[in-house]
Amino acid sequence: MPKVKCKLVAWEEVVNWAYQLSQKILESGWHPDIIVAIARGGFVPARLLCDFMDIHELLSIQIVHWGRAAEITTEAHVKYPYQLDLSGKKVLIVDDICDTGDSLIVAKKYVEENWKPGEVKLATLQWISPVAKITPDYYVDEVKDWTWYQYPWTRLEDTANFIEKIVDENKDKKEWTKSELVEKFKEDYGIDVGEPYYTLAFRLLEAYGRIKLQGDKIVVTGRKG
Ligand code: ADP
Repeated sequence: MPKVKCKLVAWEEVVNWAYQLSQKILESGWHPDIIVAIARGGFVPARLLCDFMDIHELLSIQIVHWGRAAEITTEAHVKYPYQLDLSGKKVLIVDDICDTGDSLIVAKKYVEENWKPGEVKLATLQWISPVAKITPDYYVDEVKDWTWYQYPWTRLEDTANFIEKIVDENKDKKEWTKSELVEKFKEDYGIDVGEPYYTLAFRLLEAYGRIKLQGDKIVVTGRKG
Protein backbone atom coordinates (compact mmCIF):
# COMPACT_ATOMS: atom_id res chain seq x y z
CA MET A 1 0.00 0.00 0.00
CA PRO A 2 1.38 3.43 -0.93
CA LYS A 3 1.91 5.89 1.95
CA VAL A 4 0.23 8.72 0.07
CA LYS A 5 -2.75 8.24 -2.18
CA CYS A 6 -1.74 9.69 -5.56
CA LYS A 7 -3.30 9.79 -8.98
CA LEU A 8 -0.94 10.18 -11.93
CA VAL A 9 -2.88 12.41 -14.34
CA ALA A 10 -2.29 12.14 -18.10
CA TRP A 11 -2.61 15.13 -20.47
CA GLU A 12 -5.50 13.47 -22.31
CA GLU A 13 -7.45 13.23 -19.05
CA VAL A 14 -6.99 16.95 -18.48
CA VAL A 15 -8.38 17.76 -21.93
CA ASN A 16 -11.33 15.45 -21.31
CA TRP A 17 -12.06 16.97 -17.89
CA ALA A 18 -11.85 20.51 -19.30
CA TYR A 19 -14.27 19.49 -22.04
CA GLN A 20 -16.71 18.02 -19.49
CA LEU A 21 -16.39 21.14 -17.34
CA SER A 22 -17.13 23.39 -20.31
CA GLN A 23 -20.27 21.35 -21.10
CA LYS A 24 -21.52 21.62 -17.50
CA ILE A 25 -21.07 25.39 -17.59
CA LEU A 26 -22.75 25.78 -21.00
CA GLU A 27 -25.63 23.49 -20.00
CA SER A 28 -26.24 25.62 -16.90
CA GLY A 29 -27.13 28.48 -19.22
CA TRP A 30 -24.46 30.78 -17.73
CA HIS A 31 -21.83 32.06 -20.13
CA PRO A 32 -18.79 33.82 -18.67
CA ASP A 33 -17.39 36.91 -20.42
CA ILE A 34 -13.98 36.46 -18.93
CA ILE A 35 -11.89 33.75 -17.24
CA VAL A 36 -9.49 34.36 -14.37
CA ALA A 37 -6.92 31.57 -13.96
CA ILE A 38 -5.56 31.06 -10.46
CA ALA A 39 -1.78 30.81 -10.80
CA ARG A 40 -0.27 28.50 -11.11
CA GLY A 41 -2.60 25.47 -11.04
CA GLY A 42 -5.46 26.99 -12.99
CA PHE A 43 -3.47 27.96 -16.09
CA VAL A 44 -3.91 24.85 -18.24
CA PRO A 45 -7.56 24.18 -17.32
CA ALA A 46 -8.41 27.88 -17.87
CA ARG A 47 -6.77 27.96 -21.30
CA LEU A 48 -8.58 24.78 -22.35
CA LEU A 49 -11.91 26.21 -21.13
CA CYS A 50 -11.28 29.33 -23.23
CA ASP A 51 -10.94 27.09 -26.26
CA PHE A 52 -13.95 24.85 -25.53
CA MET A 53 -16.18 27.85 -24.70
CA ASP A 54 -14.85 30.33 -27.26
CA ILE A 55 -13.79 32.82 -24.62
CA HIS A 56 -11.14 35.33 -25.66
CA GLU A 57 -10.57 37.17 -22.40
CA LEU A 58 -8.19 35.48 -19.96
CA LEU A 59 -6.55 36.97 -16.90
CA SER A 60 -4.65 35.59 -13.97
CA ILE A 61 -4.25 36.11 -10.26
CA GLN A 62 -1.57 34.39 -8.19
CA ILE A 63 -2.48 33.02 -4.78
CA VAL A 64 0.32 31.83 -2.51
CA HIS A 65 0.39 30.07 0.84
CA TRP A 66 3.94 30.58 1.90
CA GLY A 67 5.37 33.16 4.28
CA ARG A 68 8.61 35.03 3.79
CA ALA A 69 10.92 32.67 5.66
CA ALA A 70 9.49 29.63 3.89
CA GLU A 71 7.17 29.15 6.83
CA ILE A 72 3.75 27.79 6.11
CA THR A 73 1.20 30.45 6.79
CA THR A 74 -2.31 29.10 6.88
CA GLU A 75 -3.39 32.30 5.24
CA ALA A 76 -3.54 32.29 1.47
CA HIS A 77 -3.00 35.70 -0.10
CA VAL A 78 -2.72 37.46 -3.45
CA LYS A 79 0.94 37.65 -4.46
CA TYR A 80 0.74 40.63 -6.83
CA PRO A 81 -2.41 42.66 -6.15
CA TYR A 82 -3.64 44.92 -8.97
CA GLN A 83 -6.74 46.94 -9.74
CA LEU A 84 -9.08 46.41 -12.68
CA ASP A 85 -12.49 47.49 -13.87
CA LEU A 86 -14.60 44.49 -14.91
CA SER A 87 -17.91 46.35 -14.51
CA GLY A 88 -20.88 44.21 -15.47
CA LYS A 89 -18.78 41.25 -16.59
CA LYS A 90 -19.50 37.63 -15.74
CA VAL A 91 -16.25 36.25 -14.35
CA LEU A 92 -15.30 32.59 -14.07
CA ILE A 93 -12.40 31.87 -11.68
CA VAL A 94 -10.64 28.61 -12.56
CA ASP A 95 -8.27 26.38 -10.61
CA ASP A 96 -7.14 22.78 -11.07
CA ILE A 97 -8.44 21.43 -7.76
CA CYS A 98 -10.46 22.61 -4.79
CA ASP A 99 -8.72 21.02 -1.82
CA THR A 100 -9.01 23.21 1.29
CA GLY A 101 -10.74 25.84 -0.84
CA ASP A 102 -8.56 28.61 0.59
CA SER A 103 -7.12 29.76 -2.76
CA LEU A 104 -10.56 29.95 -4.31
CA ILE A 105 -12.06 31.78 -1.33
CA VAL A 106 -9.26 34.38 -1.36
CA ALA A 107 -9.39 34.79 -5.16
CA LYS A 108 -13.17 35.26 -5.21
CA LYS A 109 -13.11 37.79 -2.36
CA TYR A 110 -10.28 39.73 -4.02
CA VAL A 111 -11.97 39.86 -7.43
CA GLU A 112 -15.30 40.91 -5.91
CA GLU A 113 -13.77 43.62 -3.75
CA ASN A 114 -11.28 45.03 -6.24
CA TRP A 115 -12.34 44.37 -9.83
CA LYS A 116 -16.04 45.42 -9.69
CA PRO A 117 -17.34 42.34 -11.56
CA GLY A 118 -21.00 41.78 -12.40
CA GLU A 119 -20.97 38.18 -11.20
CA VAL A 120 -18.29 35.70 -10.10
CA LYS A 121 -18.42 31.89 -10.26
CA LEU A 122 -15.86 29.19 -9.49
CA ALA A 123 -14.83 26.15 -11.54
CA THR A 124 -12.32 23.36 -10.87
CA LEU A 125 -11.58 19.96 -12.34
CA GLN A 126 -11.63 18.21 -8.94
CA TRP A 127 -13.41 18.99 -5.68
CA ILE A 128 -12.25 17.19 -2.51
CA SER A 129 -15.59 17.30 -0.75
CA PRO A 130 -14.67 16.07 2.78
CA VAL A 131 -12.04 18.79 3.36
CA ALA A 132 -13.08 21.72 1.14
CA LYS A 133 -14.55 24.77 2.87
CA ILE A 134 -16.55 25.62 -0.24
CA THR A 135 -18.17 23.92 -3.21
CA PRO A 136 -17.19 25.30 -6.63
CA ASP A 137 -20.16 26.30 -8.79
CA TYR A 138 -18.82 23.89 -11.41
CA TYR A 139 -16.55 20.84 -11.04
CA VAL A 140 -16.07 17.53 -12.85
CA ASP A 141 -15.15 15.02 -10.12
CA GLU A 142 -16.15 14.90 -6.51
CA VAL A 143 -13.22 13.25 -4.69
CA LYS A 144 -14.45 11.59 -1.50
CA ASP A 145 -11.18 10.03 -0.40
CA TRP A 146 -8.36 12.64 -0.22
CA THR A 147 -5.91 12.13 -3.07
CA TRP A 148 -2.87 13.99 -4.37
CA TYR A 149 -3.55 14.66 -8.06
CA GLN A 150 -0.20 14.52 -9.78
CA TYR A 151 -1.06 16.85 -12.69
CA PRO A 152 1.35 16.96 -15.64
CA TRP A 153 2.21 20.61 -14.93
CA THR A 154 3.72 19.86 -11.51
CA ARG A 155 5.40 16.58 -12.38
CA LEU A 156 8.98 17.65 -11.77
CA GLU A 157 8.16 19.80 -8.74
CA ASP A 158 6.16 16.99 -7.12
CA THR A 159 8.79 14.36 -7.92
CA ALA A 160 11.55 16.48 -6.37
CA ASN A 161 9.41 17.26 -3.30
CA PHE A 162 8.44 13.63 -2.78
CA ILE A 163 12.04 12.40 -3.16
CA GLU A 164 13.20 15.10 -0.74
CA LYS A 165 10.60 13.86 1.75
CA ILE A 166 11.84 10.27 1.40
CA VAL A 167 15.42 11.40 2.07
CA ASP A 168 14.26 13.44 5.10
CA GLU A 169 12.21 10.58 6.52
CA ASN A 170 15.11 8.14 6.35
CA LYS A 171 17.45 10.18 8.52
CA ASP A 172 19.96 7.42 9.20
CA LYS A 173 20.51 6.62 5.55
CA LYS A 174 23.25 8.87 4.18
CA GLU A 175 23.68 7.15 0.82
CA TRP A 176 21.27 5.81 -1.76
CA THR A 177 21.59 4.43 -5.23
CA LYS A 178 19.41 6.12 -7.86
CA SER A 179 17.37 2.97 -8.38
CA GLU A 180 16.83 2.53 -4.62
CA LEU A 181 15.34 6.01 -4.43
CA VAL A 182 13.20 5.52 -7.54
CA GLU A 183 11.86 2.22 -6.14
CA LYS A 184 11.08 3.87 -2.78
CA PHE A 185 9.30 6.71 -4.63
CA LYS A 186 7.12 4.23 -6.53
CA GLU A 187 6.39 2.30 -3.33
CA ASP A 188 5.51 5.33 -1.15
CA TYR A 189 3.52 7.24 -3.73
CA GLY A 190 2.16 4.39 -5.85
CA ILE A 191 2.96 6.11 -9.15
CA ASP A 192 5.74 5.98 -11.73
CA VAL A 193 6.45 9.36 -13.34
CA GLY A 194 9.11 7.86 -15.65
CA GLU A 195 12.19 9.48 -17.11
CA PRO A 196 13.25 12.24 -17.54
CA TYR A 197 11.52 13.25 -14.28
CA TYR A 198 13.68 11.20 -11.87
CA THR A 199 16.93 12.44 -13.40
CA LEU A 200 15.70 16.04 -13.44
CA ALA A 201 14.48 15.78 -9.84
CA PHE A 202 17.88 14.50 -8.70
CA ARG A 203 19.57 17.43 -10.49
CA LEU A 204 17.17 19.90 -8.89
CA LEU A 205 17.81 18.50 -5.41
CA GLU A 206 21.54 18.71 -6.07
CA ALA A 207 21.15 22.36 -7.11
CA TYR A 208 19.30 23.00 -3.83
CA GLY A 209 22.20 21.44 -1.90
CA ARG A 210 20.19 18.50 -0.58
CA ILE A 211 22.09 15.70 -2.33
CA LYS A 212 25.31 15.13 -4.22
CA LEU A 213 25.29 12.93 -7.32
CA GLN A 214 28.28 10.61 -7.66
CA GLY A 215 27.70 8.35 -10.65
CA ASP A 216 24.88 6.03 -9.65
CA LYS A 217 25.33 7.00 -6.00
CA ILE A 218 23.41 9.71 -4.18
CA VAL A 219 24.96 11.19 -1.05
CA VAL A 220 22.66 13.11 1.30
CA THR A 221 24.27 16.48 2.02
CA GLY A 222 21.51 18.57 3.55
CA ARG A 223 18.11 18.21 5.08
CA LYS A 224 15.25 20.59 5.60
CA GLY A 225 14.89 22.03 9.04
P1 ADP B 1 -7.97 25.34 -3.31
O1 ADP B 1 -8.30 26.72 -2.92
O2 ADP B 1 -8.11 25.13 -4.78
O3 ADP B 1 -8.61 24.32 -2.47
P2 ADP B 1 -5.55 25.03 -1.84
O4 ADP B 1 -5.49 26.42 -1.31
O5 ADP B 1 -5.97 23.95 -0.90
O6 ADP B 1 -6.43 25.08 -3.14
O7 ADP B 1 -4.17 24.56 -2.51
C1 ADP B 1 -3.46 25.41 -3.41
C2 ADP B 1 -3.05 24.71 -4.68
O8 ADP B 1 -2.23 23.58 -4.40
C3 ADP B 1 -4.20 24.14 -5.53
O9 ADP B 1 -4.79 25.12 -6.32
C4 ADP B 1 -3.47 23.09 -6.34
O10 ADP B 1 -2.82 23.65 -7.45
C5 ADP B 1 -2.48 22.53 -5.33
N1 ADP B 1 -3.09 21.40 -4.62
C6 ADP B 1 -3.70 21.45 -3.41
N2 ADP B 1 -4.18 20.24 -3.07
C7 ADP B 1 -3.88 19.40 -4.10
C8 ADP B 1 -4.12 18.01 -4.35
N3 ADP B 1 -4.80 17.24 -3.48
N4 ADP B 1 -3.65 17.48 -5.49
C9 ADP B 1 -2.96 18.25 -6.38
N5 ADP B 1 -2.71 19.56 -6.22
C10 ADP B 1 -3.16 20.14 -5.08
